[in-house]
Amino acid sequence: METRRFSLISNKQFRQAILAFIIIAIPSFFVTGNYIVADAPVPKEGMEENPFPDQPLSQGILMIVLDGGRADMMSDSEFMPKLNARVQEGAYLEIETNPITMTASCVKEIATGVPSRPNEGLNNFHPVHPGTPDGWNLASTHDQDGDGQYDHQFGILGDYVWQDLYPDREIIPFLKHRYGHADFYTGDEEGFETLYSWLQGNPPNGYERAPNVIVAHLSGLDSVGHRYGSFEAPEYEEKLRWLDDKMDIAFEQVPDDWIVIVTSDHGLTDSGQHGSDEPIIRETPGFMWGPNIAKGVKVKDVAQRDLATLPSMILGLPLPHAISGRIPLDAFNLTEEQYEIYEQWNWDAAVERNNWMEDNGHPYIEGLSKDEIEWDKLRGDEIGMRNIDLAISLGAIVLFSAFIYRNFWRDDKLKRYAPIAASCALIAFSISAYISYNRDTLAKYYYPLGLIGILFLYYMSRDTRNKDKNSSIKFILLGSACFFAMIYPETRLTILLIPLSLSLILVLENKMFMEKDKTTPKRLIIPMLALLLITLFYSDHRIRGFAIPRKMIYYTLNYEPNAVMISAIIAFVATLIYALRKRNSNWPVAFAISSVMATLPVLVSQDSNTVDWFMITGLICGVVASIITKLMGKENSYTIFQYSAFAWLIMSWGAWAGLVSMTFYACIESLMQREWKNLTVSNQTGLGELGRHITLGLLPIAIWFSWWASLGQIDGILHTRDIDPGNLFLKGGYIGDRLSPSNTWVFFMGACPVILIGIMWWNLFRMNNWPLMMALVLLSVRAAGLSLQLSVSPSLPRLVFKIGWDLLFCLLLIAVSGLFILYDKWLIKKAGEIQGKIKSNSLEIQLNDN
Ligand SMILES: [Zn+2]
Repeated sequence: METRRFSLISNKQFRQAILAFIIIAIPSFFVTGNYIVADAPVPKEGMEENPFPDQPLSQGILMIVLDGGRADMMSDSEFMPKLNARVQEGAYLEIETNPITMTASCVKEIATGVPSRPNEGLNNFHPVHPGTPDGWNLASTHDQDGDGQYDHQFGILGDYVWQDLYPDREIIPFLKHRYGHADFYTGDEEGFETLYSWLQGNPPNGYERAPNVIVAHLSGLDSVGHRYGSFEAPEYEEKLRWLDDKMDIAFEQVPDDWIVIVTSDHGLTDSGQHGSDEPIIRETPGFMWGPNIAKGVKVKDVAQRDLATLPSMILGLPLPHAISGRIPLDAFNLTEEQYEIYEQWNWDAAVERNNWMEDNGHPYIEGLSKDEIEWDKLRGDEIGMRNIDLAISLGAIVLFSAFIYRNFWRDDKLKRYAPIAASCALIAFSISAYISYNRDTLAKYYYPLGLIGILFLYYMSRDTRNKDKNSSIKFILLGSACFFAMIYPETRLTILLIPLSLSLILVLENKMFMEKDKTTPKRLIIPMLALLLITLFYSDHRIRGFAIPRKMIYYTLNYEPNAVMISAIIAFVATLIYALRKRNSNWPVAFAISSVMATLPVLVSQDSNTVDWFMITGLICGVVASIITKLMGKENSYTIFQYSAFAWLIMSWGAWAGLVSMTFYACIESLMQREWKNLTVSNQTGLGELGRHITLGLLPIAIWFSWWASLGQIDGILHTRDIDPGNLFLKGGYIGDRLSPSNTWVFFMGACPVILIGIMWWNLFRMNNWPLMMALVLLSVRAAGLSLQLSVSPSLPRLVFKIGWDLLFCLLLIAVSGLFILYDKWLIKKAGEIQGKIKSNSLEIQLNDN
């Protein structure tokens, strides 16, 4: 082998420093990380007695939650005329959800008033009640007059999340009306039948009374949004109108002395996603009317958690200390005196909760008293900083600087740089942590630094690579730049798309000076460059109002005849680019494979399980064939596997995803074997070697994130987040089970192909002898740096959210590249053994010959 497979950083100090940094960050990762993902601390008991327990504001509540209802569209009379007419006689609330816009975390906040933590985004399908008293479970067991009979009958219908939160079927009837992701109307239709029946006074089976406190969570709208998009999607608009009619029939039957609330759990992006913290997803509407509700008012700045105070307020129940919410009092028709009494009641509960936090060693707010109502002092979505986390981070970074100092000091040549090197590490970390913590006031510097830092690093690493002079200062500067760019939370790896595009332009320019066989063909570079530029200039939805990558993915997932035809052409061209990437490619074979790929969009658009399973069977055959050929030791086994993976991607994510992935693959493979090949050859000087290694590490990361961005997974190159699980397209999850796919199936069919291709990227680098070690090192430094800075982020929920996903993603990439490195080591070891055997065999032969 001519290139060195595992060329590590030549400088021993540098390597040791990286290892030390990662080890030093481990306590933060576990202690602070654990704190941030742990359930919110909350008092399990304690309540403030209602000031007017004998004068409930109404005799019943009907709350309807429309899953995935956008605030702007629900409050538009064009789509929901009847609902909007009714709220003229009531109050409209502008509600904001917490940043994790998943159904389970939102519903949990609506119901219990306990803040959801980031880990609950991962726990979407099995939410657990925190075990606190809340308005709904109080309503189900409250007995004001002490006659031994509960005052209210609470009943729930619709979505499973409520079923999991209130599992006590002895007292709370629940009727599930939902048949999975492809249930657009059936479940809701049934839900309304149940609701009408309850409103007409019919008790649920096995219960004596008809519910007078009802929660109806209807899921069909969310499914329609996921499938067809929301904004300007006729299906979504149609569903809103249908819901408007059906709901109005229910409102006709609601007794006059009940209060009605209509809201949604979260909004949706235009293309029908949720899960991230974009404003359009976090905004939800609140329609309220009935006795004692103010008429024609608009209440702003309502947090979704505040809705948990409503049952206590409306039914005259105690207010649990656990509910972290403020009653939207402006929505009620109250005298000034009543207003003050209710507000004091609400505040007393808040102070009691704060006292409980103080008594139990949790973060609390200093100086709250019942005498003075100071809502501004209360935290919003903050988790609350802890001294212990700060201490661990501070200790870690001091330890790390000391370590660097010691290592430099021991080396005679580097001795005099010891103070500089140690302070550089300390300063880089302090700047990073300081700016992040003061993000709100330093936003002017905070966001640009995340872009400039990594670009500067890329430029420096290229610059030093070609210079012979070994300057120690430059060495330290490059090391510090690398350290800073990697640990800075705001660093956006997607911006590397810019240097990647520039280097492709350079390759095009240099082509004329080089031998034909040593350069990457134009037919690979030009499509790739075009895709990169489209992503670079046209993926910022917020600035342009559209994003081409996302639009194209969405368009090629469409079943309209035009879209299907264009998808087929795109799939054909993509496969052709890929199949003809080598100069000696076989045209007839390439045409045959491309034609097969072009049929996939047509087959998917048949919307039929039989056709789906025909394709899935084909895929399985492909994988089996690849395994058999591998076992037989044939060369093309991996090629068969790759085509199967691309076919799966085209089925599930559409032809555009196939075009992006296959073009990128073909072009990058060729670049690695030609123009970028000299990068894998070691450089003489220490500085040049460091620069080369950083480039070696950055390039795979740049390519990976550019690919990810070109799949419509980012909201623009300047957007604050690289990684957003809320952007995943899960439409392909319906393939194979069009009527009622399970969550597992939707994830398997929807997300797995793109994960598989993501893994295949690392394999592409590795098969072309690209040392993945450096990318692994950079990502590990990033993971360690982010963990250390978690300690300053609990007051910044959006930062926690970003760091959390970046960290998770970093760890996933580390795991994949790490596994490949281990696999290669094992292969080499095995190859060594075989070689040893061959040697000893030949010895024997020689001996025999003698
Ligand atoms: Zn959803």
